[in-house]
Amino acid sequence: MDSTSGGATAPDPNSGEPRPSAATAGSSSASQPQQKPEGSSPPAPPSRYESQKRRDWNTFLQYLKNHKPPLTLARCSGAHVIEFLKYLDQFGKTKVHITGCPYFGHPNPPVPCSCPLKQAWGSLDALIGRLRAAYEENGGLPESNPFGARAVRIYLREVREGQAKARGIPYEKKKRKRPNVAVAVASVSVEAAAGGSNSGGGEGSGGGGGGDSSAAATSAAAAAATTTV
Ligand SMILES: [Zn+2]
Repeated sequence: MDSTSGGATAPDPNSGEPRPSAATAGSSSASQPQQKPEGSSPPAPPSRYESQKRRDWNTFLQYLKNHKPPLTLARCSGAHVIEFLKYLDQFGKTKVHITGCPYFGHPNPPVPCSCPLKQAWGSLDALIGRLRAAYEENGGLPESNPFGARAVRIYLREVREGQAKARGIPYEKKKRKRPNVAVAVASVSVEAAAGGSNSGGGEGSGGGGGGDSSAAATSAAAAAATTTV
């Protein structure tokens, strides 16, 4: 008697793959050859990265517009980019303990503290990558790209190291030379990276000797940094 089953449910936004309904309908090409002229084919829908990049770029342009004193893109330097990143911290969701906090260095404190919320390093790093690409796609020259400035790289590294210390996340892994069991080490470090991103840390089982997979471990740590609060 449940008449409502299978009713109008909201479409799943994640299953947004277009169905190739008309893919095989063109076998009888003599009937209606609606061949479109070149250049008018519909562009593919923007990927999540592309739309995020566009959003970030608009946010930055808006930031320039509201800047006091007024700031144009052409006069924008690495220092201004760092200023922008610091401005974004107020919207951050990652707890970064100050050195005086009793939970400094604890990834999962038992009770909340009053330390500030900031943008996680992984978020900032990805954002800079998108803005750097957007700058050049909008006509900027690579050699004058403020998002690729040395000062920005240094700032991001300081944020990464500072957050690693404050939250107890080991971004930098010690390299252990174990030439005989290279395969075993690789598989262990992959497991460690996966476990770290799922459980949000806490299981310091002493693993992680991965010299080769330091990039994967770093991104896993960044993922943990964005999700754990
Ligand atoms: Zn704290």
